[in-house]
Amino acid sequence: MDMPPILRLNADMKSIGEVAARFGLPAHVLRYWEAEGLLAPARAGTRRRYTDADLRRVAAILVAKEAGFELADIRTMLTARSAAGRAEMAARQRERLRARIARAQAALELLDGDCPHEDLMTCPHFQSLLDRQLERS
Ligand SMILES: [Zn+2]
Repeated sequence: MDMPPILRLNADMKSIGEVAARFGLPAHVLRYWEAEGLLAPARAGTRRRYTDADLRRVAAILVAKEAGFELADIRTMLTARSAAGRAEMAARQRERLRARIARAQAALELLDGDCPHEDLMTCPHFQSLLDRQLERS
């Protein structure tokens, strides 16, 4: 992970508690992301100190998670040496998202549709959705 060679510990740097509060995250999530190689905050003694760049990284992780990226992909995206590597990963994720949206759209249409069946579990349309799920699994 790219880090500035010398990190000056100054008053602008934030503690893990401040960062957690700022993003509404439990502190253990920040420690977990660090253990997974997504974050590398500086240390003042044993205490973590987060720079503005670290905060932007947390924001990037949250945006990527919202877009459905898995942690391993996010790590690759954050640590990829080239913009091309990141673009390739984003393109793959776009395809996965399109597929997920299509499935969600189909599910919504099923639930929105004027199904005459009283019980969803006995509805043939719903059962065919289950069949498709079984074929995928
Ligand atoms: Zn039905």
